[in-house]
Amino acid sequence: MKNIYFTPGPSQILPSVAKYLKDALQEDIPSISHRGKTYQELFASTTEMLRKLLKIPKDYEVFYISSATEAMERIIENCVTANSYHFVNGAFSKRFYDTALELKKNPTKYEVEDGKGFTFQKVKIPHPTELVCFTQNETSTGVMIDPSDIYEIKKNNPDSLIAVDIVSSVPYVTLDYTFLDCVFFSVQKGFGLPAGLGILIISPKAMEKAKFLADNNHNVGSYHNFLVLSQFAKKNQTPETPNVLGMYLLNKVVQEMLKTGIETIRKQTERKAKTLYTFFEKNKAYTVFVEDKNLRSPTVIVIEVKGGSTNLIKNLKEKGIVMGSGYGSYKEKHIRIGNFPAISIKDVKKLLRNLR
Ligand SMILES: *Cc1c(COP(=O)(O)O)cnc(C)c1O
Repeated sequence: MKNIYFTPGPSQILPSVAKYLKDALQEDIPSISHRGKTYQELFASTTEMLRKLLKIPKDYEVFYISSATEAMERIIENCVTANSYHFVNGAFSKRFYDTALELKKNPTKYEVEDGKGFTFQKVKIPHPTELVCFTQNETSTGVMIDPSDIYEIKKNNPDSLIAVDIVSSVPYVTLDYTFLDCVFFSVQKGFGLPAGLGILIISPKAMEKAKFLADNNHNVGSYHNFLVLSQFAKKNQTPETPNVLGMYLLNKVVQEMLKTGIETIRKQTERKAKTLYTFFEKNKAYTVFVEDKNLRSPTVIVIEVKGGSTNLIKNLKEKGIVMGSGYGSYKEKHIRIGNFPAISIKDVKKLLRNLR
């Protein structure tokens, strides 16, 4: 029996990926040249379909890199000389902040306790701040940020660029990109694909900033700085030999998602999330970690298990259900559920039968 992976990254792959992998081998995808026509067409059609699925504006660029963690580094390098500002409420938002520190910038953070949200009305972003960084869905704790709070920050700080990590909320989250400058994700969560591919979406303003930094003798990195990525993207290529197989699989999955329809995917996600949260609210053996209902992520559900989660995770594993453990210090206290499109309502019901 094959396991079902409820883990929030890497996660359950979509059932159709097995066929796409076979097709890829049949079509010699792992051997084709990344400078040839077949790859260029694959690049072009993947980008075009991603734009359609996520409603990315025409003048925004789409870059292919290796991971979301890489995206954090590229964004800091290409958009910040010194001052970035970070909303920190868990491990991934902290990684973004730490990246700025490691690159010898001078980042500021507004940090709140794990499981809590931010008081956006009270925030005073210092001037000058070149870049404000958000982790829209904090995978370590299950807290989400309402995108409209991000737009408000942009309206109040029009001169700052805005970076948003949507790794564990894509493709569910709806974004208005006109308020945003750098948006990124990797494919091993919401897209139900093997890891090893990151997507970075960049506004004209962020491109201008990268150019300004490069022209003024700042270090914007080498082969994956925005300018080099852009030059190659114009030819439907990447600077290095990329994850061609990963892009092929993404191409097929985005095609599949367009066919299903993003609204259907969103409705299914909400239905599964409601089923899960309702169960955990009613069952006394569990507590939803995020107290404020408005902050609870539909895509990453974090639950405190009375008496600890270790045995529960072990028992579920024996039944073919792989559950995410708590993140970091919550390892033995929490379970985390990735409610991504690859998980069906039937899978959710199977899980709940086993949790009763
Ligand atoms: C998983 C995750 C990352 C890291 O993704 P990689 O592809 O492993 O670099 C970053 N941010 C969030 C919110 C995540 O969930």
